Amino acid sequence: MARVFNFSAGPAALPLEVLETAKAELTDWQGSGMSVMEVSHRSKPFVAVAEQAEADLRELMGIADDYAVLFLQGGATQQFALIPMNLSTEGQTVDQLVTGSWSKKALKQGQAVRNVNVVADGGESNYTDVPGRDSWSLTADAAYFHYCGNETIGGVEIHEVPDVGNVPVVCDMSSTILSRPIDVSRFGMIYAGAQKNIGPAGLTIVIVRKDLIADGGAGLPDILRYSTQADAGSMSNTPPTFAWYIAGLVFDWIKRNGGLQAMGELNKAKADKLYAAVDGSDFYANPVTPAYRSWMNIPFTLANPELDALFLEQSAAAGLANLKGHRSVGGMRASIYNAVPMDAIDALVSFMQEFERTNG
Ligand SMILES: *Cc1c(COP(=O)(O)O)cnc(C)c1O
Repeated sequence: MARVFNFSAGPAALPLEVLETAKAELTDWQGSGMSVMEVSHRSKPFVAVAEQAEADLRELMGIADDYAVLFLQGGATQQFALIPMNLSTEGQTVDQLVTGSWSKKALKQGQAVRNVNVVADGGESNYTDVPGRDSWSLTADAAYFHYCGNETIGGVEIHEVPDVGNVPVVCDMSSTILSRPIDVSRFGMIYAGAQKNIGPAGLTIVIVRKDLIADGGAGLPDILRYSTQADAGSMSNTPPTFAWYIAGLVFDWIKRNGGLQAMGELNKAKADKLYAAVDGSDFYANPVTPAYRSWMNIPFTLANPELDALFLEQSAAAGLANLKGHRSVGGMRASIYNAVPMDAIDALVSFMQEFERTNG
């Protein structure tokens, strides 16, 4: 069966080359007569894979030695709770910007642990806009400032790192990590579930300044402390070895394809083309303020929602998979991560134009 163009929001498309490599190595990895899933995480060959993946990620993102890079489990959602436990202490306030579904979920988990100050909430615009920086009420001595770099559901991306003075910035980059170059030194912590732009579900990447975790999380069980995982090379317990291996193949694929600079240029060109198609027609619409439009997740609605089902049926038949919008937003959503090629955008835009011509 032929591969389709996959616009899934997550778990999402992976580079075909990566899948082909994994397939070729599946039953006999590195001449071992076993798959990578069937060996100890502490074995020499697996430790080499793990270390190479970390080295490649550090190189791609320009991560300095004063940051720990952790390969964890539990998804971004578990980080929503672990961050306040590890990066703040009882009685401290943490700041949170609310820009949509994921930052709301982070807020709820954070509130279970700490006093969370909402610096601003985009609810007034139904999360199609981000409140201006001058309207934020920041806490001067907050333990950290947390925001979601890209709201995967609403398609709202914050393209500049917010300036919050000396307070460490913590960012949920689940759906934007590796999509373009970023300056890691501006952040106290970056984290991402792997299943959008890195690899399979089950792996979560944490990049955190070592001084922030040095004596954080005192009193927590070891397994919940970043410092324990950092000391153990993310192997306090058995890590998700297969997901880690696939992530390593993806990092290598990005390196061979020009790194984050090339990814960023291609991703911007892909997004520009799709937004131009949406904006150039009265048949389609995207509600997000242009300055905050996501490069990765592009929701769009049909002027006549009664045509949604037909659009989804016909697009799927045309080999354009997983365009249904999130249930909370409706309409369509095209997630166009690194592994989604320009050809997919061209095919989608042609389909949209043809669908408008026959149904408009
Ligand atoms: C998908 C996603 C999450 C949740 O990830 P899980 O791995 O399911 O916990 C959190 N934040 C953002 C921005 C996401 O896109």
